[in-house]
Amino acid sequence: MNFKITCTTVLFSIAALVQAQTQTQQEVVDALVKEATENSQLEGLAYELLEGIGPRLVGTPQMQQAHSWAVDKFESWGISAKNEQWGEWKGWERGITHIDMVYPRVETISGTQLAWNPSTSKKGVTAELVVLPTVENAAAFENWLPSVKGKLVMVSMKQPTGRPEANWKEYATEESFEKMKKEKAEAESNWRENMKNTGYNRRTIIEALEKAGAEGIVQSYWSEGFGANKIFSAYTKKIPMVDISLEDYGMLYRMVEHDAKPKLHIVAQSKDLGMVPTFNTIATIKGTEKPEEYVILSAHFDSWDGGTGATDNGTGTIIMMEAARILKKIYPNPKRTIIVGLWGSEEQGLNGSRAYVEDHPEIVNNVQAVFNQDNGTGRVVNLSGQGFLNAYDYLGSWLNAVPEDVSKHIETHFPGTPARGGSDYASFVAAGAPAFSLSSLSWAYWNYTWHTNLDTYDKIVFDDVQNNVILTVILTYMASEDPDRTSRVKSILPIDKKTGEPSVWPTPRQPERKGGVN
Ligand SMILES: [Zn+2]
Repeated sequence: MNFKITCTTVLFSIAALVQAQTQTQQEVVDALVKEATENSQLEGLAYELLEGIGPRLVGTPQMQQAHSWAVDKFESWGISAKNEQWGEWKGWERGITHIDMVYPRVETISGTQLAWNPSTSKKGVTAELVVLPTVENAAAFENWLPSVKGKLVMVSMKQPTGRPEANWKEYATEESFEKMKKEKAEAESNWRENMKNTGYNRRTIIEALEKAGAEGIVQSYWSEGFGANKIFSAYTKKIPMVDISLEDYGMLYRMVEHDAKPKLHIVAQSKDLGMVPTFNTIATIKGTEKPEEYVILSAHFDSWDGGTGATDNGTGTIIMMEAARILKKIYPNPKRTIIVGLWGSEEQGLNGSRAYVEDHPEIVNNVQAVFNQDNGTGRVVNLSGQGFLNAYDYLGSWLNAVPEDVSKHIETHFPGTPARGGSDYASFVAAGAPAFSLSSLSWAYWNYTWHTNLDTYDKIVFDDVQNNVILTVILTYMASEDPDRTSRVKSILPIDKKTGEPSVWPTPRQPERKGGVN
């Protein structure tokens, strides 16, 4: 045996090894991209989740159905998965909402009952509409209040225009655009001022109206886009509370102002299901070399229910599910353990992820990276280091492996500042775990789809979602393979303008584990 191995030979062997390794890395990346591109399951997943099952409000049977569906889906891909209970919530199921103007003529009104609102009888309620009065002070309002007995009360401002600002900007003369903006600002400030005069706020006034014997509450929470309204929960205990379109609301409001005494017939059925358990879906691809270190793919699974929760957060959900499918197929033996967390009740305060962080310190303390996606259907354009001092070193190097046509859209911010809320990565950041938001291009998210009746399948831009799948699988692969553990060193945060002191790092907050009961 020749013991005289020369330095050159050793160097050559190392070089060959490195070469082989980088080739393997490139091969894996290529295979991941190929699977994401040529065998995408995104459309099927979107259909089954959004339209087969529907919206996923916490506490509803549809939410529970979605959790079961996800577990079955993961298992069909050979990935072990389970639903982990972390709390309970008021159980409720939406039923039929029918709203019609029945006097002075008949017209069907576009609207829906708000979440967790109790059912009307099958016959429903029929009553005259009234609007909130302009008052000088609380005494004047209390004076007026008894007159709502037996009436349906309209509690939103009448919008001066049903056209979004962008539409005005495109077509209006400069003078009328300015005039409209001024009128709108004035109407809004008068509305706020008057609300203050009543002695109530947007929420407490509804409790007062119900107590005074109103038959029901009619609102219109316009989202400043054609046809878009935000749909949240009802504030009433017994009487119906519905949201109707800007167009119908404006018409009815003007009819009241003209003393036409319009009447609505409202049938809004629903089921109170008592308290029900609430879950996170957790899927796991076990690591081989470092099974006790974790890369977490994160998205909230719940939604509001005005639409079908397509972009909030159907798209985040299917990105993480599709990413897991591809990783299991192309990279079945990851170095570190890959977990997919589909969280419950994000919409009521990051509850599912906060519970997970609280219940699994052994995982959270050994997180290599968390990737969360939750701000719409768009391709990822922003990535922040979340205040982790050395995030650039690892995120930067992982991003280098991402194909140019995906990475070229992304603006990075290092070290960035830690999120204090907004979505589930904040739950992990607060616990000091390197967690990042794959932040999307807006596609008019805030006006048109976020928590609106228009958050539906047709708004999904599948090319962008697929782009995000490619980004996610490669970041996950790179994070899993990285020879080094990621640094958790926190940067000194910028001065808080209010206190003049450096901002403090967010700390973990407790989840609401028994929700909807106040
Ligand atoms: Zn969301």
